[in-house]
Amino acid sequence: MTAETVRGDDRAHVFHSWSAQGLINPLPIEGALGSYFWDYDGNRYLDFSSQLVNVNIGHQHPRLVAAIQEQAAKLCTIQPAFANDKRGEAARLISELAPGSLNKVFFTNGGAEANENAIRLARGHTGRQKILSTYRSYHGGTTTAIAATGDPRRWANENTAVGLVHFWGPYAYRSPFFSESEQQETERALKHLRDTIVFEGAGTIAAVLLETVVGTNGILVPPPGYLRGVRELCDEFGIVFIADEVMAGFGRCGEWFAVDRWGVTPDLITFAKGVNSGYLPLGGVVISDEIAETFRERPFPGGLTYSGHPLACASAVASIEIFKEEGIVEHARAIGDDVIAPGLAALAAKHPSVGEVRGLGVFWAIELVRDRETREPLVPFNAAGPAAGPMNELAAACKERGLWPFTHFNRVHVAPPCTVSADEVREGLSILDDALSVADRYY
Ligand code: PLP
Repeated sequence: MTAETVRGDDRAHVFHSWSAQGLINPLPIEGALGSYFWDYDGNRYLDFSSQLVNVNIGHQHPRLVAAIQEQAAKLCTIQPAFANDKRGEAARLISELAPGSLNKVFFTNGGAEANENAIRLARGHTGRQKILSTYRSYHGGTTTAIAATGDPRRWANENTAVGLVHFWGPYAYRSPFFSESEQQETERALKHLRDTIVFEGAGTIAAVLLETVVGTNGILVPPPGYLRGVRELCDEFGIVFIADEVMAGFGRCGEWFAVDRWGVTPDLITFAKGVNSGYLPLGGVVISDEIAETFRERPFPGGLTYSGHPLACASAVASIEIFKEEGIVEHARAIGDDVIAPGLAALAAKHPSVGEVRGLGVFWAIELVRDRETREPLVPFNAAGPAAGPMNELAAACKERGLWPFTHFNRVHVAPPCTVSADEVREGLSILDDALSVADRYY
């Protein structure tokens, strides 16, 4: 197999996600290990993207690969109506990690399906239809999940689902509420959510759906008090609180579940990605006892052929065990506090184009601007094509130097695997240091 044969089949037959098919030229990848992957021409990249922020355990963890092989030799598939050892064990381990009385798991094949089914659970539980979600959010590419999404990926898809209402979440650096402090941002964001609930009609709202820490749309860490305030509003109005932790969960934020950082218990948590680092497709919803009880006598109107797939569940069990034994969640928190945070602060001090750095664990954003006073973004919101030029140049400068970044609009996200070493972080930040001179030229 050569780069050319891989590229040839891809160009001829693979229809790619979110892309104009004629404008892309995907890099053919031969292999990966730990924090690195490499192409057929021998170029190796430090993976600061964790792919789509999912390879939390790193690439090709030998114990995880072995667990999948072992399960494959025993039982590859059995339909969801049967009980299966790995399915039950995965559900038990995830429930034990989840806060409060979230004790049941509905398995899906990924994050979008998890959100679809969380919405279905909330609607079934409350008998109400509307779902409130934030403008700066991504909840997945399926019918309702994409309509609940706030970012531009929704625009071509939103007429396919009903009852989705958007509101503004907190974002202190570009406050939609003209706040001047984090405390003000919390207060005003909660007032805005309360007003949205009241004006939409509390009795029509099934759920508030939000990313605990907003991922693709900016690594927006909620200010102190915000999530607790959302919990209280949901309690006051009988609304289900769904925390989307598809990206933020399973170590990414230096916690098992990101809500743990704020001691808040939602009614439903959706997960995918980090649960088994995407070695096999898996996602799900962790469900509170109260919502599960609604469906004790009444059938839950949803299901998937591969729900609780034994291979995927075996990989989740092995991954959680490895995370516990190797202290990976604690490592992610420490590497964030001790290495990434100070490293990014140093980049911000040196490069005028860095408007803000923010994040936690192994989940960080560098927000780039043309002017620190006005905070004019380096490229406009939803920049595509020529407008994205400076960001494309910056990404190319990283790749030439052996770093694979995750860039989105005017941001570079720093999201290496949770297992990344301090030296690897320093290597990546030093490449970013060089590459940021590209952004500085536009300042
Ligand atoms: N929710 C969040 C917060 C995500 O970041 C994503 C994917 O990036 C999804 C949902 C959708 O997950 P999937 O692509 O597995 O369907």
